[in-house]
Parts: sequence; structure tokens; C-alpha cells
Amino acid sequence: MKFFANFREAAGREQERVEGVADVASLIDELVRRFGKKLVEQLYERGTRRLRETVHILVNGRGINLLEGLNTHLKDGDVIAIFPPVSGGGSLTPEELERYSRQILIRGFGEEGQEKLKRAHVLVAGLGGLGCPASAYLVAAGIGHLTILDAERVELSNLNRQILHWQLDVRRSKAGSAIEKLWAMNPMAKIDSRLEKITRGNSNKLVRDADIVVDGMDNYPTRYLLNEACVRNRIPFIHGAVEGLVGQLATILPGEGPCLRCIIPKEPPLKPVFPVLGTTPGVIGCLQAMEAIKLIVGVGRPLVGKMLFFNGEDMTFDIIEARRDPNCPVCKGV
Ligand SMILES: [Zn+2]
Repeated sequence: MKFFANFREAAGREQERVEGVADVASLIDELVRRFGKKLVEQLYERGTRRLRETVHILVNGRGINLLEGLNTHLKDGDVIAIFPPVSGGGSLTPEELERYSRQILIRGFGEEGQEKLKRAHVLVAGLGGLGCPASAYLVAAGIGHLTILDAERVELSNLNRQILHWQLDVRRSKAGSAIEKLWAMNPMAKIDSRLEKITRGNSNKLVRDADIVVDGMDNYPTRYLLNEACVRNRIPFIHGAVEGLVGQLATILPGEGPCLRCIIPKEPPLKPVFPVLGTTPGVIGCLQAMEAIKLIVGVGRPLVGKMLFFNGEDMTFDIIEARRDPNCPVCKGV
């Protein structure tokens, strides 16, 4: 069983099953036989049987050379992705197509989804237990522009959960420590770091340019400031919070569902130090990145009007419905 991807222009669908071909060259012959002239125009230099330089072929996620690679033997279960030039001017380079090939294959994702990620700007506010995994997965997925924000320095007691900060980073700024790891992870991403504290005075300015804001905070006063700034600017806000072995997640779409203040009207008591196992923000931060990616690409259904609770003690995920408060001081009238 073999598949090829991203021939929507030629085939009207993204995947096709091909059986009984021995190598890449005969796979291409079979596809040309099926889809004819339109595919020939996309694959070959005009009037020749030479593949265009812009065609990119991956066998099980690995790029092949367009000359000798055509002899690559194929067996049942192989996944072949062929990327011809996309009409409308695809902006992904061959390297990007290879790097993101496994997610481009996801139904509803495609090159278009990847291009949306490349154009997106996400603000991760806070580089602690939630912000570290969230920003790492966003950068790995190909978010084009990430702003990371944290005014604090790395402490030894952060290292059980703030996985972008390592032993040698203790006493460095969290923003400086994180940006170094994120760049090493994906040099294609544009990342900028800010060492600011979030205040009522600067919250608007901080969120305004972002397409999505991820809540990596460890306290409610700043979460509420971010929530307000996001509602005011109609920017999606992905809320996450953890303690011990439990965590929660909600996606705030201003104007479409409840805001954080509707769901949690009163600030829980402030705890300067609370227990947390690193895997708990690992789970929630990862889900925050997933919600952000889903919103940008347009796949799946976001967690709007709901709150997810994760309990690691007995490994349960529960989702409750959350409604807008018609008298909410933050989102009323939005
Ligand atoms: Zn509200």
C-alpha cells in the first residue's frame, strides 16, 4: 500500500493509494497514467521527461535525489510524498517540506496548513513549566514567528519542569536560555525574546501583534491581565494552569466563547510556592501548543466554551462546559 500527497491540483484529493509498483520511477509513471496531462505539466520541464527542479519527493519522510533516487525500491506500507509547485505560489522550501512532511500528511493540514504556520506569530508569555514545552513544540512545528516573554532568571528549583533551562543556565535570564535552545531546535524560526514583566500598562502593547497568545503564567493576576488584553484585541488566548499532578486547559476565543474571567471569576488564593511535578506542565503545555497549531491551521475543533481538567493521580481527562457570563466585566459586549 502506498500513498502520495499533495496532488490536490491534479487529482482533486490529497492522497492516493498505489499498488504493485517496484520503484519511485514506476510510481510516477503510474500516477501520470492516472492523472494525465495536468500532472505531466506539474512534474516535468516543458516538453521533456525531466523532473522539474522544484519537484520534491520524500520516501517515508526522507528526500530523494531526483536522478538516482528514482530507482529507490518501494515496498508495501511505504509513504511517498510528492510536492510539485503549488499553484498560487507555495512559499515552502524543499527543506521545509522535508522537515514538516509528517504533519503535512495529516488530513486537512497539507502545505497550506504549513504555510499558515509559517506566517503565524505566537506570543508565549512565561517560560516556566508550561511555556517551555509549549514554545518547543510550536517551534518544532514550524511557527514562523515566536515571541517569548519572561523577566525572570533561571533557578535551580526550576529545572525539574522548565525543560528548556539546563544546569549551566542557572542564574541566566530565562528568555536568553530558552531562545538559544529554540534556535538550535529550528533555525528557520524567527524568535524574539522580551525580558519584560506584564503590567496593566504594557499588556496591550505586548499582545497586540500576536495572532495567538499562550498563557505560561504561574499566577492569576497576570493571567487576568493577558485575558483582558486578548479580549480587547480579539486575540485567541490559550489558558493553562497546573499544580501538583493536576492541570487545566481552556481556549478563549473572544466574542465566541467565555473568557477566563467568565470561567474563573474570582482569583484563587495566591501561592508563592506550590508543588508541581514536571510532567504535569509537560502535558498541559503540549496541549496548549496543540490548540494553537489547530487554530492556526484550521484543523479539528478548539476547546472553546469548555475547560479540560487533567488529573495525573488517576490519569483522567475531564471536560466541563463553560458558559459566557453575560455580566462579565471583561468580555461583556465583545
Ligand atoms: Zn468574560
